[in-house]
Amino acid sequence: MDSKYLKEECGFDGLTVTEEAARCLLCHDAPCSKACPAGTNPDKFIRSVRFRNYKGAAETIRMNNALGAVCARVCPTEKYCQKGCSRSGIDRPIDIGRIQRFVTDFEEAAGMDILEKKPANGKSVGVVGSGPAALQAAVTLTMLGYAVEVYEKEKVLGGMLRLIPEYRLPNHIVDKEIERIEKFGVKFHTGVEVGHKVPLDELKAKHDAVLLAPGYSYGKMLPMFEGNDKVVKAVDFLKEVKEKAGKVHVPNNVLVVGGGDVAMDVVTTLKLLGVENVTDVVYEEFKEFKASKKELEGAQKLGVTIMDGYVPVKAEGGKVSFEHRVIKAKVEVEADLVVLAVGQMPVVAGLGIELVKGEVNEGSPYVTKDPKVWVCGDIAHSAYDKTVVGGVRTGKEVAFYIDAALGGK
Ligand SMILES: Cc1cc2nc3c(=O)[nH]c(=O)nc-3n(C[C@H](O)[C@H](O)[C@H](O)COP(=O)(O)OP(=O)(O)OC[C@H]3O[C@@H](n4cnc5c(N)ncnc54)[C@H](O)[C@@H]3O)c2cc1C
Ligand code: SF4
Repeated sequence: MDSKYLKEECGFDGLTVTEEAARCLLCHDAPCSKACPAGTNPDKFIRSVRFRNYKGAAETIRMNNALGAVCARVCPTEKYCQKGCSRSGIDRPIDIGRIQRFVTDFEEAAGMDILEKKPANGKSVGVVGSGPAALQAAVTLTMLGYAVEVYEKEKVLGGMLRLIPEYRLPNHIVDKEIERIEKFGVKFHTGVEVGHKVPLDELKAKHDAVLLAPGYSYGKMLPMFEGNDKVVKAVDFLKEVKEKAGKVHVPNNVLVVGGGDVAMDVVTTLKLLGVENVTDVVYEEFKEFKASKKELEGAQKLGVTIMDGYVPVKAEGGKVSFEHRVIKAKVEVEADLVVLAVGQMPVVAGLGIELVKGEVNEGSPYVTKDPKVWVCGDIAHSAYDKTVVGGVRTGKEVAFYIDAALGGK
């Protein structure tokens, strides 16, 4: 298989990053900083980069965002920091993600140790899950003086970050972020499924508070595909490809069902692995597409065949029949492998919480019926999108709520 899957897009060098930072208009009331859910403060770090103060820029990013290097690569910046960039009115927005990537790469290369914590306050918090929300909450709580222990059911830490394809988010970047957090003092336990192997009550007895961040880590299945050995869920497919660094066998004729960003990751991965025929059949019509324009255009450029507006109605092995939602049209696609990218869902059995429309919604953000148990990340009812940077925001916020409840300021 082709190694294009392993190649990350080029970043800035010392010259190009200065040129890009020099394009910044130094707005007084910077829209970029207002629009970053994590409060990473791009206007401040771009100013530092302009004056080649990379150390200061790294400090700004890291103190505000424990996953600065990850966010630099995966944030949908067109929706957040770059959306309101004043420079857009002149030519194009500042490439904030790539500047952030340069700075966090500098931080790593220089071996900087930026995070600082208050003296230990004698209290501890148990965190369930190790996705972006859990990791940020663990860091903020450690900064506030808590002893934090993270319990993750998988053998590997990082949650959905371990599924984002290597060409967009290399595994070594996630490893480094987690190493830094571990060095800062957060204790990690892997292979521990809370609610099953370890009851929630055990964590409640051990810690002053328990924070649940199990995310949307399970792929959805449609009943007609149940038990079909030609069918694999998108999350399982992406996980295997990433775990095996692209060294997987994939047949030359693959059908993907679904049209969100995860489906775009699947079709792009398939193409970069060298699969010849990739057909994506999507429920939405192009005008209502869920995937970002950039991801869709990227997939089309790679030669993915996309059929919009079709619903699957019957599946027998790799033969799947679809009917159009609007016009009278039927289509049958036969493939050697079918990848289902029809969404993810949370599983919270044994965690003592109830979900309404996939979220814990007790009227106030992050709380549950149990005053000792809190939630954050994708399962929390919050104003933030289900993204990495949204998770960072909820992790930071819930840490301050927990601190206030446990007697902090
Ligand atoms: C393929 C893919 C691509 C994505 N691309 C992007 C992107 O480019 N940009 C972006 O911003 N967002 C992206 N996202 C979304 C983003 O990854 C999620 O919004 C984010 O990871 C949610 O963070 P979280 O902390 O809530 O949970 P998750 O990252 O889902 O982590 C939850 C963790 O909890 C663990 N867990 C669950 N139950 C238990 C239990 N009972 N006991 C112990 N551990 C448990 C799980 O194993 C998992 O590790 C993508 C998601 C996917 C699936
Ligand atoms: S964390 Fe993400 S949204 Fe915030 S400034 Fe950085 S790239 Fe933009």
